[in-house]
Amino acid sequence: MRIKHHILFDDKSLMPTFEEMGFYFKSEFVVFEIYEDDSRWPLIVDFMQRYQVGGNRCSVEFSHEELARYHWLTLWCTWQNGYPLPDSGPLDSIAGTYDLSQYCTTCGAGWRQVAPFRILSEPTWKRRKIMMLNWILDAFFVSPQTWHDVFRPFDIGYRPVYKRMTGVPMETVVQLDIPAVLPGTFDLSGDSAHNCAVCGTTTYFDPRSGRYPAMSIIPTTGHAYVSQEEFRGGTLTFRQVFFSHEVYMALHAYGDKNCEFTPVVNTEFTSP
Ligand SMILES: [Zn+2]
Repeated sequence: MRIKHHILFDDKSLMPTFEEMGFYFKSEFVVFEIYEDDSRWPLIVDFMQRYQVGGNRCSVEFSHEELARYHWLTLWCTWQNGYPLPDSGPLDSIAGTYDLSQYCTTCGAGWRQVAPFRILSEPTWKRRKIMMLNWILDAFFVSPQTWHDVFRPFDIGYRPVYKRMTGVPMETVVQLDIPAVLPGTFDLSGDSAHNCAVCGTTTYFDPRSGRYPAMSIIPTTGHAYVSQEEFRGGTLTFRQVFFSHEVYMALHAYGDKNCEFTPVVNTEFTSP
């Protein structure tokens, strides 16, 4: 497990201090990433404490050996490619794909996918295996081949993706279909919860830093679920998507270069 910090200051006067430590900047911001096992990390901590500056976001990277010890993991994808169409704005673009009759403009909850997404062109996959669209944080897209090789053996289905405004399915991309909702809830800290004054829905901040909070009920069957909870994601809320150990192992063996998994804290396998 490696802990990575994303550092950002908008104070140009601090640049020489960091340049002396070996960091160089292309923009007017002091922005860089550093691991806690970097020999310069103590200098950064000292600096931030001395000058009482914030601007630090922390994330944890897990090794494959660490991730392989967990029964359930949530997925994030680093390839966010394109937009749902028409791309005149998040709501217009999904109006044909989502039922928005219960949608709340205050908190973003109340949507439901009822039709395929429409996108501009076939993705350029190269060696990538999983794609997300901008604005949509809980829909994962794969090639039909990846679906067949990795997800089909676990009874995970797919939805077609349509070309632009037509009803013609794309040839090289499908959406993973994950209708199952987790039977239990997550131990999310109270202060991340927000009750919408307009629709009454409770939404949460994404807790994905370090291991994921504990599941109240750990599923023993099935390989893919979405959370009951909705998380704040801008115009639309999103649900977290979870895959089983078996799916994680299959995807890792297949080459998961742009997938970031976070293990659920209380689903670690115990040694016999
Ligand atoms: Zn609301």
